[in-house]
Amino acid sequence: MENTCIFCRIAQGDVPSIRVLENEHVIAIRDVNPQAPVHVLVLPRKHIAGLTQLPADDPIWNYLVRAVQDVAQREQLSGGFRTVVNDGEDGGQTVPHLHLHVLGGRAMNWPPG
Ligand code: AMP
Repeated sequence: MENTCIFCRIAQGDVPSIRVLENEHVIAIRDVNPQAPVHVLVLPRKHIAGLTQLPADDPIWNYLVRAVQDVAQREQLSGGFRTVVNDGEDGGQTVPHLHLHVLGGRAMNWPPG
């Protein structure tokens, strides 16, 4: 999976990305097709296909949430931001490697499309 998954290849440094944060467990990159002035993806280095496949006791969730908080601070999203996890086909997931979208820099609409 590591050889074919685009986010695994980004995490390994085989595919270029603009990194805004990285540590042993997670990386955060700018989305190539931003939907807001700030659009960052936070993802685990290890391959997990999506939220459905995340084991309930996997500590990676804590690292992901902490990274979202750090991204929001670094990107100066003091007015708020939106975090989205698309899961599966109906959820609009297009890359089957768990990632959290961090969207900010403008007021968000609700409901989403
Ligand atoms: P999702 O539809 O929730 O799976 O989100 C996948 C996101 O990954 C989309 O917003 C894409 O624009 C973004 N994306 C796809 N390929 C890349 C890439 N190589 N670098 C950065 N973002 C990407």
